[in-house]
Amino acid sequence: MALVNGNEIFKNARAGKYAVGAFNTNNLEWTRAILAAAEETKTPILIQTSMGAAKYMGGYELCLHLVQDTVKSMGITVPVVMHLDHGNYEAAKECIKVGYNSVMFDGHDLPFAENLEKTKEIVKLAHAQGMSVEAEVGSIGGTEDGITGAGELASVEEAQTLAATGVDYLACGIGNIHGVYPANWQGLNFDRLQEIAAAVQTPLVLHGGSGIPKEQIVKAISLGISKVNVNTECQLAFAKATRQYVEAGKDQDIDAKGYDPRKLLAPGTEAIKETVKERIAWFGTPAV
Ligand SMILES: [Zn+2]
Repeated sequence: MALVNGNEIFKNARAGKYAVGAFNTNNLEWTRAILAAAEETKTPILIQTSMGAAKYMGGYELCLHLVQDTVKSMGITVPVVMHLDHGNYEAAKECIKVGYNSVMFDGHDLPFAENLEKTKEIVKLAHAQGMSVEAEVGSIGGTEDGITGAGELASVEEAQTLAATGVDYLACGIGNIHGVYPANWQGLNFDRLQEIAAAVQTPLVLHGGSGIPKEQIVKAISLGISKVNVNTECQLAFAKATRQYVEAGKDQDIDAKGYDPRKLLAPGTEAIKETVKERIAWFGTPAV
């Protein structure tokens, strides 16, 4: 299966009350683990790179080729969308040029009029190339790539105005946060989600999907969330499994060559795959 435009996999999500997961990749192991989880569950998936991860890996073109070539070499048969997560204006334009399937232009920290203008421009450029676009209104709390959001709720009017640009999916702040949730977190604001879902038909995106209790995620999906982003959960799972391997002294087993990266990184890679599979089940993504 070739990589596809985001619209292919979201067509029936709102009506079918399910979501598709978007998982951030950081390197080869992450890419293989995410794709393996999608293949084993026979479900479509988005694999996304943040600006920081793309810089770490060596640029957007390299990230795209890594995913394209891994899809091919692993014989992946399910639809895969290569997506830019939280791109600024320049990054969104670059990923459209490089040939991603989908880009997020995150203009939430700009004055709304400027967010709107730039979103319109990115939509025009992306749609001309058959790519889908995600925009953001209201900020997601926490810090991602150095941008810290207070997590204010998206305004219904702004969500409607941004949806009218023809964006393919819309991220709206409903109390969600990137990273690990603080102990005093107030939970998702379902009233605001319902108001936005009633006002716009565009598939809605829930960022910061790591650490939100399953019941809240399932409820959010039933109220109109179609795409859920997961990043931190996979990082925690990878770190924990790798730590257990090292703390057990397995990396120091010279006879078994436990220091070989293919062995050292294997438990972490497996843990990412299991985390992704578990989330896919939570989201109710139907098999293709
Ligand atoms: Zn996000």
